[in-house]
Amino acid sequence: MIYPFSYDILPARIVFGCGTLDRVADEVRVLGCSRALVLAMPELGGVGEALAERLGGLAAGTFLGAVMHTPTDVTEQAMAVVRAVNADCIVAIGGGSTTGLSKAIALRTDLPQIVIPTTYAGSEATPIIGQTENGVKTTQRTLAVLPEVIIYDVDLTLTLPTAISVTSGFNAIAHAVEALYAKDGNPVISTLAEQGIAMIARALPAIVADPGDKGARSDALYGAWACGTCLGAVGMSLHHKLCHTLGGTFNLPHAETHTVILPHAVAYNHPDTPDAMARVARALGEPDPPTGLYDLAKDLGAPTSLQELGMPYEGLAKAADLAMANAYWNPRPLEHKLIARLLDDAWHGRRPDSV
Ligand code: NAD
Repeated sequence: MIYPFSYDILPARIVFGCGTLDRVADEVRVLGCSRALVLAMPELGGVGEALAERLGGLAAGTFLGAVMHTPTDVTEQAMAVVRAVNADCIVAIGGGSTTGLSKAIALRTDLPQIVIPTTYAGSEATPIIGQTENGVKTTQRTLAVLPEVIIYDVDLTLTLPTAISVTSGFNAIAHAVEALYAKDGNPVISTLAEQGIAMIARALPAIVADPGDKGARSDALYGAWACGTCLGAVGMSLHHKLCHTLGGTFNLPHAETHTVILPHAVAYNHPDTPDAMARVARALGEPDPPTGLYDLAKDLGAPTSLQELGMPYEGLAKAADLAMANAYWNPRPLEHKLIARLLDDAWHGRRPDSV
């Protein structure tokens, strides 16, 4: 069998390990910079302040107001600080929300970025940015927002609460699952996707049992990079479309929504994606991907229904309509009646049928 493909490999410099926060100053210097603006969320403000202190004279200032979904008014506040301190690079420490702000600044200024991820969302490895203006979130893909350097420090993830660890891990798995059946997929990304799913699926139960398990934390963080790289390399399908719709229109929480939807989206696409499903099954160590994913989430105490996330039942019809409008390419043709049923199953938190 011949698998033709084309693949634009993204540039990236990755530093991975424990205690790698020590390397940030050197990486600022390697970029030829000396006036870093440190970004963090308010919840991780202490971590941001400590990093600025560690950078000493290389830190020009801090902006500790990153929030989820990259609202443009927050970006404008951060831009005022960028100008006031005459920053020549961004150092962002936190999850996808902080990375989003870093990307939004890079989009406006072309400043180089060093991103230090503390969740498994994977945004640091993608040239994708979502921004929210007047309550509407729009996404674009541009190399201008791809971080120049990613520093993964396993030690920083030890404090990530187990509930967020699990849902963030499912967010990562979702990138890799959809990469396995992407129409622009390729063998390198498929190998990375399978490895990423396996690493995270193995790590999450160990993290729930012992959040301080450094080996498991390392596996999950490596898996996050692998899955984020998949998201950055190939197109996403029904699962991501549904999550963007539910997050954007109904303001549902990002990682939790991915966790609830994934088993149902996989059940939908299963019949048309045998090769991808064989790889997901192998990575999970479960013969049936839809129920394997559902059971893993449930066993780890993650939400399994949209109802739990605050989704109004009356909103399901609108969500189905939106998912059909401007649909992403999907391996199985989209049928409104079946998408409505998928959403109904996800709202109730039903275990998908075994296939
Ligand atoms: P997040 O960044 O909002 O973080 C979630 C929570 O975890 C926050 O309260 C944060 O303070 C806390 N937290 C993070 N790291 C911690 C740590 N180590 N210890 C203790 N607490 C910690 O959540 P997220 O799921 O990482 O990111 C979601 C956002 O990222 C969304 O806006 C989503 O659209 C975006 N995203 C973008 C891409 C992309 O490629 N553009 C990919 C994935 C996600």
